[in-house]
Amino acid sequence: MRKNIVAGNWKMNNDLSHTASLISDLKEQTKTSNAEVMIAPSFTNLWHSFEATREDDIEVVAQNMHFAENGAYTGEVSASMLKSIGIKTVILGHSERRAYYNETDESLAKKVDAALANDLRTIFCFGEELADRKAGNEEQVVASQIKNALFHLEASAFKNIVLAYEPVWAIGTGETASPEQAQDMHKFIRETLNDAYGSQIADDMTILYGGSVKPVNAKEIFGKPDVDGGLIGGASLKAEDFYAIVNAF
Ligand code: PEP
Repeated sequence: MRKNIVAGNWKMNNDLSHTASLISDLKEQTKTSNAEVMIAPSFTNLWHSFEATREDDIEVVAQNMHFAENGAYTGEVSASMLKSIGIKTVILGHSERRAYYNETDESLAKKVDAALANDLRTIFCFGEELADRKAGNEEQVVASQIKNALFHLEASAFKNIVLAYEPVWAIGTGETASPEQAQDMHKFIRETLNDAYGSQIADDMTILYGGSVKPVNAKEIFGKPDVDGGLIGGASLKAEDFYAIVNAF
């Protein structure tokens, strides 16, 4: 089933006390919303965040995980570790992970498999770089990112996948894809899914847009028929702005 989701990716921001105060600010905001609300704090703050939101309609999700179940991978965290503290969803393939930590479609396919094997819902991120868009290759790039990382999956796996289209040129730059550009790409993504897996999976897929979504532009972007919500970076660090975006639905 397609859902409206607004997820805040806090990246490497907020120590424990900032995390606690941002969560308490979030709780002050409107409780009635037409979207599922998620926050993705850093690993060190996941447990606190999970405990602090137990009674609230806020899901705490992880920003990343390793594909191995356990072993000699210093500094890494596995799907089962996330699960053991109650986490149900993980973000995979964020462009910063791809750019700074050499994550590839191939390594991401393994991460997706590990997440799904552990019953973790995956928010799978992808998107073209500025050079791709300038060259008119954005659809080709996006199609290959999705196919390489996800199209080995059985159709039944897609109920645990959320897609997040995040054009790299719009992340943290203040430059947003226009609502039309977002809609065009989301429609193309749905068509790509339709071609490979059929209309049920394509229609049911939740596809988020990410890239400089702010209170001022959220309504117009979320108003597009194939945009089901947003993955929010910078604007998720202020409770008021984040909820203004949530309430754009
Ligand atoms: C992100 O990092 O996923 C993101 C969309 O960041 P921002 O909203 O700051 O562009």
